[in-house]
Amino acid sequence: MKQVTYEGLTFEPYISKNEIAARVEEIGKDIVRDCAGKMPLFVCVLNGAFPFASDLFRATETIEAEITFIRLKSYEGTSTSGSVKEVLGLHEDIEGRTVIVVEDIVDTGNTIYRLIEDLKKHKPAEIKVATLLFKPDALVRPVKPDYVGFSIPTKFIIGYGLDLNGKARNLNDIYILKED
Ligand code: IMP
Ligand code: MG
Repeated sequence: MKQVTYEGLTFEPYISKNEIAARVEEIGKDIVRDCAGKMPLFVCVLNGAFPFASDLFRATETIEAEITFIRLKSYEGTSTSGSVKEVLGLHEDIEGRTVIVVEDIVDTGNTIYRLIEDLKKHKPAEIKVATLLFKPDALVRPVKPDYVGFSIPTKFIIGYGLDLNGKARNLNDIYILKED
């Protein structure tokens, strides 16, 4: 692993693909333990969560589970909370089901908070949140992810799905913005 540069910004290695893989296996085991017999529906939030969701879903092969994919459409809203997001692509009936929202990162918590509020309207039995990364110091919403891969400081990272203006999602390791 060495430094990478995107758009003139330098990033240094932060979490290796082996560390990611080991942690994802552990979270998979936690979900197997908590959700056996519940036929959970994984809801992958595109685009960023797709590598994590792919690995995490396959780490639960010993239980029955399903997966679907949604996208959040952003609007420049007039609300004080900044951009408003609409959920696109949820075609499954989630009433009475255990839903596991799979996110790449929870930063301020605005995105996941809004998503949870929308999903609740469809009356699931329970909503759990699995996020690969969590920036607890940046949180401004009352949300507590059920499964967290890594808690990290409030710094910008890329790789394993996380992007800088659409780039760097295909990096196998996670990199952090270098400050000099
Ligand atoms: P929120 O602030 O919790 O609503 O996070 C919103 C979104 O910001 C996440 O889903 C990511 O797409 C993006 N994001 C937050 N922090 C980072 C980061 O460090 N790198 C790349 N994207 C990020
Ligand atoms: Mg995201």
